[in-house]
Amino acid sequence: ATAYLNGEFLPLGQAKVSVLDRGFLFGDGVYEVIPVYGGHFFRLALHLQRLAQSLEAVRLENPFSENQWQNMLQELVERNESVDQTVYLQVTRGAAIRNHAFPDRVEPTVFAMSSPLEPLSAELRIKGVSAVTREDIRWKCCHIKSIALLANVLLRQEAIDAGAQEAILLHEEQLTEGAASNVFIVREGVLVTPPKGSFLLSGITRDLILELAKENGIPCQERAILAQELTQADEIWLTSSTREIIPVTRIDGIRIGNGAPGLLWQRMDKLYQAYKMKVRAGLCE
Ligand code: PMP
Repeated sequence: ATAYLNGEFLPLGQAKVSVLDRGFLFGDGVYEVIPVYGGHFFRLALHLQRLAQSLEAVRLENPFSENQWQNMLQELVERNESVDQTVYLQVTRGAAIRNHAFPDRVEPTVFAMSSPLEPLSAELRIKGVSAVTREDIRWKCCHIKSIALLANVLLRQEAIDAGAQEAILLHEEQLTEGAASNVFIVREGVLVTPPKGSFLLSGITRDLILELAKENGIPCQERAILAQELTQADEIWLTSSTREIIPVTRIDGIRIGNGAPGLLWQRMDKLYQAYKMKVRAGLCE
């Protein structure tokens, strides 16, 4: 695979950064993950907008204009072979003698790589996945797409250790999001997801699902969701750029709905796949 590092394209295995990089020492940086279908970026402008917001929130100057990001990322995709790709990019505060305070006049480290984007397994689409609930032990700025993901890593691993695929996080008995996904529930035909704010990442997929729901007359609400509503839900979905919409059919060992992916999931998945087809054809972003 070909990667991009500080102005150069090079084989991923040859891309090296200093051990003094603040991304390595402090997790001092932000990132994005963007899917690419048939060479076309999915919601690129929104991903770059969220990147700009993350950079601003951590007081890093955006190293590129929107146009420069587009050109660099397009070239990265062209230099990699797969039809469908996942582009990962990150910006850190650069390499400097270790000191918590910001360094003076240090160039940020800008890195991007691409990997093949595999379609979701048929099994997952037929059976759904299991999730566990956990206390949301993360910091209070979850709207920032920070590379410091230790809590998310520990929580995801707890889910795996429990034989599940995702940890669904609760803050004071209210749903926030998954360890690496946003969460929707369906109750009595209404699609519900928690409102945006500092307790969760404003998912690009989340927003698209709300858009598709509105366009197609599916009732939806952005409101607080109580822990107890999870087990009472007819459906639970996880959403993210690379894993699209995944139905959760068990939570903490309790069956959701009839234990199979729900009808509204099937409908939304069709709308989502149709949207992806349009992106692939270059008809929308
Ligand atoms: N929340 C968290 C904590 C995540 O890591 C992700 C995926 N990166 C999401 C939500 C989903 O965001 P998106 O739909 O933009 O991929």
